Amino acid sequence: MDEKTSDRRFISLKLKWAFGTAVGSLFIFFIVAMAMFTSFTQRLFEQERGLLDQGMTNISRQLGQVDRPLTKRNVQSALVQHKTGGAQYQRPIVQELSDGHLVVNVYSPKHQTVLSTGQPITKPAFNDQHRVQMKKGPGHKIIVGQAPIYAKQGHRLIGYLQVENKLNVYYRNYRQLRLVMILALCLVVLASGLLGYFLSMLFLRPLGDIHDTVKVISKDPTKNARVPVPAHNDELAELATMFNEMLDQTQRYINQQSQFVNDVSHELRTPIAIIQGHLDMLQRWGKDDPKVLNDSINASLVETERMKNLVAEMLDLSRAEQVDINYRDQQTVVNDVVHQVYNNFKMLYPDFVFTLDDDLSKPITANIYRDHLEQVLVILCDNAVKYSTERREVHISLSRGMDTVEIGIQDFGAGIPPEDIDKVFDRFYRVDKARSRKKGGNGLGLSIAKRLIEGYHGSITLESSLGAGSLFRIILPIASDKDAN
Ligand code: ADP
Repeated sequence: MDEKTSDRRFISLKLKWAFGTAVGSLFIFFIVAMAMFTSFTQRLFEQERGLLDQGMTNISRQLGQVDRPLTKRNVQSALVQHKTGGAQYQRPIVQELSDGHLVVNVYSPKHQTVLSTGQPITKPAFNDQHRVQMKKGPGHKIIVGQAPIYAKQGHRLIGYLQVENKLNVYYRNYRQLRLVMILALCLVVLASGLLGYFLSMLFLRPLGDIHDTVKVISKDPTKNARVPVPAHNDELAELATMFNEMLDQTQRYINQQSQFVNDVSHELRTPIAIIQGHLDMLQRWGKDDPKVLNDSINASLVETERMKNLVAEMLDLSRAEQVDINYRDQQTVVNDVVHQVYNNFKMLYPDFVFTLDDDLSKPITANIYRDHLEQVLVILCDNAVKYSTERREVHISLSRGMDTVEIGIQDFGAGIPPEDIDKVFDRFYRVDKARSRKKGGNGLGLSIAKRLIEGYHGSITLESSLGAGSLFRIILPIASDKDAN
């Protein structure tokens, strides 16, 4: 997977982002610009066409007043005539039309040119249809209007008219507009690309920080480097926070792991050293002395037994960490287990006084695997017995909270000093190492109990006073009726 990604060429997200925004805005601007350009040029074209149509109508109307076939002379005089008679036009209509870029040609019925304001590009049609068409011109298309001219009275054909519009103004505007649009398009693409690039640079800065942190951590996982969380609250700030939490957790695991290895090797060192000492002694001189031999074998057996227990407890501890995954749906009637453990201990330690104070009126079910609850109770009762002094009494209580069930185990023994109360749940922690070792304790019992109970979303607390005794309290959530079915 890693090889695959490194095989591919690295393309920065910033470039991809910039490219994406540039292409996106190019696309949008192109559509908008095309719509504007088409509607604008269309209007311009319609105007030109309207101008030509208007010109044709005016000329036809004016020439129609000549009641005879058109000749050069009568055309001239007809076109300079005043509409209402009297004074002449100051600007003859033909001149006005040529100023409007129209080329006007008038022909007699015999197809002779009788008036021309310029060289026509298309050949006159000389038919009786009034037509306005687009035709091919020298550089571009032109509009050509052709029409027969009829005398106003009698509707007699007196000539032909052809008006051309070379569309020079139209094309000039068209080209200008196209240039402006292309320049604007380039500007938009450039601006949006740059904007995209800088915005992505701004937004992706936290990713750069994550990248740097990963680099530092992958070189040395114990380093304390963390990603600076951005001030604004967004997805990247969330990612940075989650990433830091993940690093914290991973580092906690690493520390725990190395601590565990340290603890285990430390715990195993003593029994191994004892066994080795005995074996050394036997090898050197002791094997010939039956008493020394016997003592050494017995001492070594005690130590191997201790190691066996230690390994078994360590296994229990590592299993206790996974209860949430493996025993999620287990349910147990708490009353039954407490009564059973109480009866067992009463039988095992007849010289102790065990009392059970059961406040529950009916069976209560908790989400916990039966063997695990039993294991926790055994650990606590065992400790109560183990660390009892003169007053050989253990009180067990069973009561109910709002939606919890509470089990108390109280002894009246050595008690635990206040500064050790939090630590006794730590792995391998023993208040009095020598005494605990003598009693066969590895310092793992309470940490197994705590992990098991917390694995089932319960809690375990301790109240103790030195010399007066200790009270361990287990609180477990009661299984809801829905769970119980
Ligand atoms: P151990 O196997 O040594 O008993 P635990 O984890 O069960 O290990 O207990 C840790 C330490 O807490 C013990 O070594 C002991 O010093 C102290 N402790 C536990 N339970 C009691 C108790 N009921 N009274 C006094 N001290 C206790």
